[in-house]
Amino acid sequence: MTAKTFDVGTGAGGGTAMKILCEAGLQVCAVNSGPRTDPDKDYRQHRQVYDLKFRGYGNPLRLQGKAHQEPYSVEESEYSEGRDLFEHDVAYSNSPGTDWYWKRCKATGGKANFWGRSSARFGDIDFKAAELDGFGENWPVDYEEISPWFSKAERYMGVASTVQKRPSNPDGEYLPPLPFRCIDCIIQKGAEKIGVPYLPDRCAQLTVAHNGRPACHYCGNCSRGCDVGSFFSPTWFTIPQAEATKNLTLLTNALVRAVLVDEKGNARGVAYVDRTSRREIEVYAKVVVLAASCVETAHIMLNSKSRHWPAGIANSSGELGKNLCDHLYGNPGYGCLPQLLGQPPTPDNIADSTIAWMPRWQNLKNPREEKFIRGYSVYMGGGCGGFPGYYGQIDGFGSKFKRDIKRYYPATIGALIQAPSLPSPTNYVDIDPEKKDTFGIPQLRFHFRWGDNELLMWEHSKQVMIDLFKSMGAELWGADAEPTRPGTSLHETGVCRFGNDPKKFVTNKWAQGHDVSNLYICDASIFPSCTDKTTTMPIVAFTMRTCDYMLDNFKRGVHARA
Ligand SMILES: Cc1cc2nc3c(=O)[nH]c(=O)nc-3n(C[C@H](O)[C@H](O)[C@H](O)COP(=O)(O)OP(=O)(O)OC[C@H]3O[C@@H](n4cnc5c(N)ncnc54)[C@H](O)[C@@H]3O)c2cc1C
Ligand code: SF4
Repeated sequence: MTAKTFDVGTGAGGGTAMKILCEAGLQVCAVNSGPRTDPDKDYRQHRQVYDLKFRGYGNPLRLQGKAHQEPYSVEESEYSEGRDLFEHDVAYSNSPGTDWYWKRCKATGGKANFWGRSSARFGDIDFKAAELDGFGENWPVDYEEISPWFSKAERYMGVASTVQKRPSNPDGEYLPPLPFRCIDCIIQKGAEKIGVPYLPDRCAQLTVAHNGRPACHYCGNCSRGCDVGSFFSPTWFTIPQAEATKNLTLLTNALVRAVLVDEKGNARGVAYVDRTSRREIEVYAKVVVLAASCVETAHIMLNSKSRHWPAGIANSSGELGKNLCDHLYGNPGYGCLPQLLGQPPTPDNIADSTIAWMPRWQNLKNPREEKFIRGYSVYMGGGCGGFPGYYGQIDGFGSKFKRDIKRYYPATIGALIQAPSLPSPTNYVDIDPEKKDTFGIPQLRFHFRWGDNELLMWEHSKQVMIDLFKSMGAELWGADAEPTRPGTSLHETGVCRFGNDPKKFVTNKWAQGHDVSNLYICDASIFPSCTDKTTTMPIVAFTMRTCDYMLDNFKRGVHARA
């Protein structure tokens, strides 16, 4: 098969790329690792756990015999285990001392079927962080250049929030915000007293009908997939729009192994393994777009070895797979608001995750005000959720225990820190020299440990929670003993970082390979550092910009048409 462009992955980045390229009239072949997502069959919302065979936990034997047996939290439950949406056939390795948790959704739409929708803009405080505090590399772009692309992405996706005028998260173009819950009003007052902002998050959830999709009906099941498409996901937005052009060929259950090269070392297509027949198939294109979700993009490129690229395609810099960054996650404080004990339940579970957050407030005026550089943000959750997760905190049994569960139901709260790690020479991915997966593809291997800077943020956030709980008159029951495992956040960055110098960066500022000009990358692997914000809206924005540049290159004849 020959196509003008080739798109590996159909998630937030790949889905956006194929929509834009198809709508521009290019013939696009999208190769997706797993099956097609079908919300009618794959999401089981609006059912109570007692309606489900395994009470929401899923069949305990479902991973028996699989190469990677670890279940994925939140998104992979009986509500969304559907027809084999998550990756358990392809194993990966952790080097000694590394405990990376690599959650992968192989179905079309990828993890963006189940994402948490937090969608803040990055700002110059992020792009020029290296200039401000002297650590690492600046991004090759500034806010003025990127801001119109953020607007375009927000207008397309539909992001609910308010104008806040804060330097760490510039304002955008928003739908009406999600309403605050009782807990948010109390937390906001407490936070004000200790000088910490508590504001509506930027949430890609449709508070009003938008872009042909209906307004949210607040069932609170978002992390299990939305059955009506009321938040941005490729399944409801980009994939049907690309298909409507009739310019899309979508290959499913096609696991890409490597990018193929021509006699000059340029990309000429990809080789994939058909999961059903287990045969390897080659497909050819004028341009290849990799959007397999950060570390998997690096995996494919590292496995794309040829006489031109003995260390992996487009890797003359030696930076491919390096600079792996992630968000340190963990709960620095949980407890309850006694003023809400015994109150009647309210519909607090309207967004399943984040309605409000504490955007970065540290090191804003002086980049070295704190013991750590950069900064972190915090999300607060609680109130009347789907399940009383606090049951373990309450003593007793029988009817008193049941009464207490009800009494505490509106009142419990907890925090989630989102702290960026710094690039480090010891944090990277490479190919495991010993191990191959069940399809014969050399496995990806992780090398990663939390660094001192993010651990200082973790300690700082625990003290903030002590102060906050005191100022709210709340009971602090505890904090996580350790941050969560690396990889948990799903916001990894850096392994194909972009920048102007071909000796130091894998792609140029347009996410086009420095070495291979017909290879583009449309995921967070190009981001040279992690910020206190999440990555998906920026992935969409940077992909829009990359595709615009690519189309211009087609027009100017840089890429020959098929
Ligand atoms: C529960 C949850 C909460 C989240 N919360 C947030 C949040 O609040 N805000 C935020 O910004 N982000 C959040 N995320 C992360 C967000 O989902 C990702 O940032 C986003 O999906 C990344 O987009 P992507 O296109 O790079 O990858 P994905 O959306 O994962 O798509 C990758 C695609 O590549 C395909 N693929 C992978 N490997 C191969 C291969 N070898 N061959 C062929 N195809 C391949 C996959 O099948 C998939 O289609 C959350 C994720 C989850 C699961
Ligand atoms: S709360 Fe809204 S966006 Fe989330 S699953 Fe329900 S309808 Fe969809």
